[in-house]
Amino acid sequence: MRKHEVDALTGLATYSALLDYLEEEGSEIRTVSPEVLYIEIDEPARFNDAFGYDTDKRILLYFSENISTLLEDELFVRIGVYSFVIAKKKPSRPGELKLLADKIVNQLREPMNLEGNLLYMTASIGIASSVSLNSGATLVRQAEYAMKKAKREGTNRIVVCHENGAFSFEHELKLLRDLPKAIENGEIYFVYQGQYSYTEKTFTGAEMLARWEHPELGNIPPNIFIPLAEKSGMITPLMNKTLIEVSKMYRELEQRGLQSFSIALNLSFQVLMEESFLDNVRFILDAYALKERPLTFEIMEDTIPDHLESFTSRLDEVKRLGFSLAVDDYGTGHTSLRYLLHFPIDYLKIDRSFVHNIHRDRRNFLLFKSMIDMADALGLKVIAEGVETREEDSVLQRFGEIIVQGYLYCKPLRQEALLALL
Ligand code: C2E
Ligand code: CA
Ligand code: CA
Repeated sequence: MRKHEVDALTGLATYSALLDYLEEEGSEIRTVSPEVLYIEIDEPARFNDAFGYDTDKRILLYFSENISTLLEDELFVRIGVYSFVIAKKKPSRPGELKLLADKIVNQLREPMNLEGNLLYMTASIGIASSVSLNSGATLVRQAEYAMKKAKREGTNRIVVCHENGAFSFEHELKLLRDLPKAIENGEIYFVYQGQYSYTEKTFTGAEMLARWEHPELGNIPPNIFIPLAEKSGMITPLMNKTLIEVSKMYRELEQRGLQSFSIALNLSFQVLMEESFLDNVRFILDAYALKERPLTFEIMEDTIPDHLESFTSRLDEVKRLGFSLAVDDYGTGHTSLRYLLHFPIDYLKIDRSFVHNIHRDRRNFLLFKSMIDMADALGLKVIAEGVETREEDSVLQRFGEIIVQGYLYCKPLRQEALLALL
């Protein structure tokens, strides 16, 4: 094996060693089915303000030392600023790294003790394995891709990418090519998920969610194609299609006397910041003679920048047009209270990871409660996402004036089905 450089902070091996490890004795790869685990820690620097400027480095070091104790003969490398790879060339049985990933997630649940302060780090894990021709580099990219998927699902999640599974690297390229025509020809369409108000005892709004029925690959989840649309510039045409669709929906609502029913759209940070965004919104809504409609734009918390004047002033412009703003997946990102105070937002949508098992999980309950208290103090309305069971629902009802969105109340439905429900 060649000599490789070593990471200065953690003393771990680096990417080139990883490739060597996976590809050395190249032919063997095909028979032993190596596995790769990709883990990225969420933004350790977010703790620096509270615990001192080098906290991120201490976190990385603590993490790498802790994980090392879980390893046997795997190769452990630092591959990016906050990301690591664990590779096993010859797993004794397939799925071995999944067991390791479970152990890592368990470890993450234990707080790190920083001179008496307890600090919880979170991470996302992707796993890929190869039974055939994948090169080491492709395998690592697949694991990274799975990690990104895990990240979109929440915190401390694990996603295993099977080579022949629902999504692979090759599929991604195909999807990228097919996206423009899918937006045009109706393969991409929208469903609506009702939002239920405890105080009004009825659905007061709905979130619009995109769906893609691909003719060959079947159902493609938005967690896969939205990032592709963002990457390829297709997110703007998709947004325009969304606005046209929502205009039609408002007409239907109006015909049924439901003028105050609000619709929420997911807005990519990228689209929001585009020069032409507000003109587009104005143009489309004008064309449909729809100005004063209860329309909310949801922006994912983890895309919100920390210090961006232009971002805040953009939000102000959106507000001036009479629309509402929601912070989506609240609690998963790093928005500090101070910035939250500066944003002209109306709703916090508390991420479903906090709602999950809230009747059993004391920590989720406490976190949820503190978010409600904070929202109250700031005068923000709250939407709780992902309510799936009666038990969760009965705990949430105790919080009074909140809105809930989840499978228990309403699955995402086609326009006609939602209208029928109302
Ligand atoms: P999101 O904005 O957080 O949307 C909520 C997601 O949670 C939806 O997934 C919804 O189907 C799912 N969900 C709702 N209730 C429950 C529940 O009770 N339990 C569980 N486990 N899940 C529930 P979906 O439709 O797969 O969308 C995933 C993400 O893709 C969305 O997350 C959003 O970030 C993005 N997305 C979807 N449509 C669009 C779009 O038109 N534009 C943009 N920019 N992003 C979109
Ligand atoms: Ca949303
Ligand atoms: Ca959400």
